[in-house]
Amino acid sequence: MKTIEKNKKMGMYENVSQQFNRAADLMNLNPSVRKILAIPNTEIVVNFPAKLDDGTVQVFKGYRVQHNNALGPYKGGLRYHETVDIDAARALATWMTWKTSLAGLPYGGGKGGVQINPKNYSDTELERITRRFTYALGDNIGPEHDIPAPDVNTTPQMMAWIADTYMSTKSTNERTKYAHVVTGKPVGAGGLEGRDRATGYGVVVSLKEWANHKNISLEGKKYILQGFGNVGYWAAVFMKENGAILTGVQDASGSIYNESGIDPDNLHAYMNDNRGFIKDYRHADEIPNDLFFGLHCDIIIPAALGNQITEENAHEIKAAVIAEGANGPVDVSANDILLERNIDIIPDIFCNSGGVIASYFEWLQNRNGELWVMSEVLEKLEKKMKLSFSKILNTAKKYDTDWRTAAFIEAIARVEQAYLQRGIFP
Ligand code: NAD
Repeated sequence: MKTIEKNKKMGMYENVSQQFNRAADLMNLNPSVRKILAIPNTEIVVNFPAKLDDGTVQVFKGYRVQHNNALGPYKGGLRYHETVDIDAARALATWMTWKTSLAGLPYGGGKGGVQINPKNYSDTELERITRRFTYALGDNIGPEHDIPAPDVNTTPQMMAWIADTYMSTKSTNERTKYAHVVTGKPVGAGGLEGRDRATGYGVVVSLKEWANHKNISLEGKKYILQGFGNVGYWAAVFMKENGAILTGVQDASGSIYNESGIDPDNLHAYMNDNRGFIKDYRHADEIPNDLFFGLHCDIIIPAALGNQITEENAHEIKAAVIAEGANGPVDVSANDILLERNIDIIPDIFCNSGGVIASYFEWLQNRNGELWVMSEVLEKLEKKMKLSFSKILNTAKKYDTDWRTAAFIEAIARVEQAYLQRGIFP
């Protein structure tokens, strides 16, 4: 597919490194700390076997990159996708360090996954793959060391299998202590009310903050959405609550458009009956993928993969703002074109941080034996994100820079301070 070719063109790690360098130069980051933060602490690659339904065995490749843990345990999702490789895992782990730091959480950054297309496997096969991957990672993950969560194509059910597998490998009298080895679990298995919608909710909080800043409202604004999975769907639900109109959607199966609006719940119900794809939805027209980002709209929410908006399509964008629901959807060259064209970018490490903020609440809930309710979760999440946005605005002003660079400066400064206060062992 074209988008996957784009992924290969510019390495994702190259992208995050350039973002880091830009901020590090501007803030005059301590040179020793800069050397440490420029590469991940640990990179784990596992080749592990799992039995398929026909009795044969396949060997899978799994990754976990742990970028930095100066502020606390590594934290970040696991992705099941053909594009998962060491470069993607490195980049995504690095973004997690900056995301958790910016949100003021006691975490570092990690990320990983398995290089597969899960649509090619049955549920029973995915359970065995997930459990064997967890077993292969062993004590490289742990509730006080490295805490995975859902990402592209990984579900709350898979998180429950991870927790169960990890706990089952511990001694019997200790097992229940380890439920917070993973977040994003189903509520019945130690999950948090509201974790499912937290990232999408946060994307809309960030857009409301943007709208307030511009003295406008989201009411009646037209927007297009790339990715209609966990992040995309829930963002659409909360955009509807705020009166915004969804006119275009793209997923892995194609792109659809209806100028007068697409109802997110109706599309979601259709998608669930259509193997998780939006293709052939009757209430919108199918359009070529290449035309998608050039559609007339006020807002774009990319909520799928990285490197989707590049120098190839950045000139075609008509929207006033891009809210990065996905990680790394806008590459560095597109970023500069968009800034030049006065298109606002709400950077990923802020825009989609609602997910890791709610994951932190789930971790606390498990760790402290508490039960939180949804209203409390969403309220606390919103408060944290509003604080982050005001910090980004202040830093952008102070350094006379764009919001992404300002968000990086805020995030890097917190990690820098930890190193400078603690020193480098020995
Ligand atoms: P998901 O698996 O639930 O949904 C992914 C969506 O992207 C699907 O609709 C899929 O069809 C679509 N997609 C896949 N390949 C595509 C392609 N080539 N072109 C267009 N669409 C494509 O995943 P998700 O959890 O919603 O994650 C989406 C993005 O948000 C990722 O970048 C992820 O890292 C980021 N994110 C997720 C969370 C979370 O809590 N799940 C938190 C922060 C950031």
